[in-house]
This record gives sequence, structure tokens and C-alpha cells, in this order.
Amino acid sequence: MENFDWKNMPFGYIKTDYNVRCYYRDGEWGELEITSSEYINLHMAATSLHYGQEAFEGLKAFRGKDGKVRVFRSEANAKRMHDTAEGIRMAPVPVELFKKAVFTAVKLNEKFIPPHGFGASLYIRPLLIGSGAEVGVRPAKEYLFMVFVTPVGPYFKDGFKPIDVMVCRGYDRAAPLGTGRFKVGGNYAASLASLELAHNKGFSTTLYLDPKEKKYIDEAGPANFFGIKNNTYITPESNSILPSITNMCIQQLAKDMGLNVECRQVPIEELSTFEEVGECGTAAVLTPIRKIVDPDTNLIYEYCKDGKPGPVCTRLYNKLIAIQNGDEPDPYGWVDYI
Ligand SMILES: *Cc1c(COP(=O)(O)O)cnc(C)c1O
Repeated sequence: MENFDWKNMPFGYIKTDYNVRCYYRDGEWGELEITSSEYINLHMAATSLHYGQEAFEGLKAFRGKDGKVRVFRSEANAKRMHDTAEGIRMAPVPVELFKKAVFTAVKLNEKFIPPHGFGASLYIRPLLIGSGAEVGVRPAKEYLFMVFVTPVGPYFKDGFKPIDVMVCRGYDRAAPLGTGRFKVGGNYAASLASLELAHNKGFSTTLYLDPKEKKYIDEAGPANFFGIKNNTYITPESNSILPSITNMCIQQLAKDMGLNVECRQVPIEELSTFEEVGECGTAAVLTPIRKIVDPDTNLIYEYCKDGKPGPVCTRLYNKLIAIQNGDEPDPYGWVDYI
């Protein structure tokens, strides 16, 4: 195992030994290739560079107390990348190829998988780009799929601590009938200006409203939003939200704990009725929200008044990380052992 300060890992890029690649040419995927290079040789007219033919995924591997390495929900990530590829007309990566590439990248970089008990994990980043040259607007004929990994600590530097978020009405990350439900880089480019605004005002992230009517909650930055009240877990349903796999896991865990689960439109006014709110995603895991500020209406919604995460968030978070880290059984087959 590499000698890192596992307790204070940032959420950032650290070079590992290998990454894996696969090229789509002449209508078919080739063999997986292993390389140590961090660079790709790309045609200057590649569609990924000009027309945004780019999709990515994010998942994690964990080392259990038993020493075994667990990759969390690779199949669901593979299917989502398949949907994204079809959404922006790229050659989809077959689910089995995706999983093989992920498992290979993890295995080859085993010494970078953080030990159990530090709250750190190996972040896995699959990437699919249009590599074929085009000048007219049309899908590329060639694609590159690659997977690299990097050890990471918590996304928000304080870990499982409530964050403050800012409602964002001046920007949208996606259009009503656009690409919000696909995991594409363009949505992130669209989010950077509002994220900078939120950071400059001291907030951890932005809360987007639905881009059509600005009435309902969409997402919290690169994470899904949820609220809890009356023994019910409520999460927004919208055509411009990225379907978070973490959110789906938490919905299942909430049901197991006897909560009701509702996926529906969540009007912004409903924020005043929640007992707890939070955001969830592979990077954010489950992060409770302490305060939501809406600068345009001057409304402030506060939770966790004692500064601590609420009881339901805490139970859901503990259950999720226990399954990921192998401290509790995995009743739904979410984990693959490497
Ligand atoms: C990736 C992502 C999420 C979280 O999805 P997970 O599958 O839970 O990691 C949420 N929102 C956006 C916009 C994303 O890109």
C-alpha cells in the first residue's frame, strides 16, 4: 500500500500506476489496453472537443475490514453511461466491457485503495469521448472509452457535517428538455459560473430550481436533493435531474427503515416544512444541509439548529457507508468483490 496520509486525503487527482482504454472503430469496440500514460493523443477535430460528445461516470471502491476490495454499483453505473451515450448519440459501451474495464483499473492500482477506517476510498472515473474528426455537426464515427482511478477523501472537507447552500435562480445547469438527465460534461460547464458565485458568498454549493418554471427543486450542484418529514423521504422528480444511484440506494435503505418514499415535484416553499434536508451522490455520499439561503426572496431555511446532522440523515448515512465498507451485509447485491 502506498504511504499516504489517508486521514487527510483531499478530493482531488493523485497519479496512480495504470489506466485502461478501449477504442471504437469501424463500428466495433476493440480490446482493452493498459497504459501508464496520463495523456491521450487526440485529433484536433474530435467531436468531444468541439461539440461536447463527452460522457463520464463516477463510482468508488472500498477496502473492507476483511481486506477485500468492494466496487459499489458498477452495473448501475454501466447502464447509466449506456443511457448517456445514447442520449448524446455516442457509441454506447457494452455493460460487460464497462465492468471489465472498471475491475481491471481497480485491480491494477490495488496499492492505491485506501485502507479501511479512514473515510477514504478509490474514486473510479470512466470517460467516453467522441475521438473521430468531424467539422460538420454530427456524431463521431470513433470513440475512446477509458477508466482511471484516484484515491480520495471526503468531497466536502469536513466530511459528515452539515453544509450551507444557496438557491440559484440566475443560472440553470440544464434546459427543461435538454441533457440534465445525462451525465455529460456540458452540464458541468454550465454550472461553473453559479458554483463560483455560491463559493464566493461562502456557500458549499448551489441549489437549482426547475429550469422551466423556477417553482420546484431540481438538484444541489452535482448531487441529488432530498427532504425528510413525517417519517417520509421526499426527493424531486424532474426531467432535468441526473438520476443518482446513491439516491436510489438511500431510497431503498429508507424503506427498509420503515420510512415512506416519495419521488415527486417539490415546490420550493415546501423547504419550510422539512425536518431534515440533504444532498446525495457518489462524491457527496449523504451530506446534510444546515441552511438554505434564497437571495432573491430573502428567505432562509434552517435545519440542524444544534449544528449536528439530523437523526434520519445520520441513520441513512451510517447504513450506506456500512454496506459500502463491508461492515454490514449487502442484501441487494450492490457490491462486486475484486
Ligand atoms: C453524478 C451526479 C449525481 C450523483 O449520482 P450518483 O450516481 O449518486 O453518483 C447527481 N447529480 C449530478 C448532476 C451528477 O452528475
